[in-house]
Amino acid sequence: MTNHEIKKKIVQYTRLAQSRGYTVASEGNISVRLPDGYVMITPTKIIKDFITEDDIVVVDMDGNQVDGTRKATTERFTHLAIYKKRHDINSIVHAHPVYTVLSTVIGTNPFEKIFISEAAMFLKKVAFAKFAKPSTKEGADAVRDVCGNSDVIVIDRHGSFTCGKDVETAFSLLEILEKYCKMYYMASMSGKPINFIDSSIVEELRNVLY
Ligand SMILES: [Zn+2]
Repeated sequence: MTNHEIKKKIVQYTRLAQSRGYTVASEGNISVRLPDGYVMITPTKIIKDFITEDDIVVVDMDGNQVDGTRKATTERFTHLAIYKKRHDINSIVHAHPVYTVLSTVIGTNPFEKIFISEAAMFLKKVAFAKFAKPSTKEGADAVRDVCGNSDVIVIDRHGSFTCGKDVETAFSLLEILEKYCKMYYMASMSGKPINFIDSSIVEELRNVLY
């Protein structure tokens, strides 16, 4: 895939995240690790509905901008912290999905116990990061400290980072995450007890190959 094709893909999924409501205004960012070791990423301060290929920038692994006219997102340090820890993933999507954030606002980790198989099969083990100021070193450290081998990281009262071998995979995890958290939030609001899946079965589900 050429760099221009990668830019097109980043733009396509950035707009899709916006149209789905996973981000609003200039929120969220998407990155792809290039074969040469640099990272292509969305810029800061742009309404994501209007983003084009010309707006995408490139940074090195220390966060220095090496290409592009706009300024790289301030969240790049969190993306880079994950890439440095995970050599097997090449794309990261960061968003502020409403139900995912709401599920943490009510004071719980929505993944301590789960109630549908898909949450275990697709999301596997979700990492939960404590609240930290976004766009800071503290924020990057909080994510790096918990991410381990998890492809899905939920940050308390902030949002999510989903990772994968490509943009499609990282974005799909965001969709599944938000759907699960919507169900979790609505079930929590019902006031009725939630019927969780037994933890031993959850472990088996995480190992199901699909
Ligand atoms: Zn954010």
